[in-house]
Amino acid sequence: MNEKIHVLDSTAFFAGIPFQGEGKYYTTYQVLDEVRGRGIGAQLIHSRVQVTEPSKESVMKVKEASNRTGDQKSLSEADTSILAVSLDLIKSRLDEEVVLVTDDFAVRNVAEVIGINLSETAIRGNWKRITWVTYCKGCGKEYLDAKGSVCEVCGTKLSRKPKPTN
Ligand SMILES: [Zn+2]
Repeated sequence: MNEKIHVLDSTAFFAGIPFQGEGKYYTTYQVLDEVRGRGIGAQLIHSRVQVTEPSKESVMKVKEASNRTGDQKSLSEADTSILAVSLDLIKSRLDEEVVLVTDDFAVRNVAEVIGINLSETAIRGNWKRITWVTYCKGCGKEYLDAKGSVCEVCGTKLSRKPKPTN
């Protein structure tokens, strides 16, 4: 049986990568930028994870799909890049199984629409769960239990980010 190819987005890094496995790991430079300086060892990343860039063609496909699903506003450049690299790998590595490891709702949504396999058990099982913090990009207030979708203080739409583990 062939090794699985895992494509990792930033939520996968925050959750902790199962480096003990024999699988192959891929990510993009944009994702690396997001996780850098968040307590994730750069050496570890470079020794086990292949960093790559998506083709323009796949980026276009992802953008079209996210427009259709209404997820385009929720997708960061890094999100788009990781979806596009998944498409590239599916095309170029036909004999291997490619799974995208992500805990981001918009990324999962678009992945399903364009036919990218998602690794669910990885996050729920071997991977540490992510704790999300809801916060306001406008004034910085953090919410443990947000009642609405906008900030009570300044009215900005609330965002969420993974809680740092240390
Ligand atoms: Zn606010």
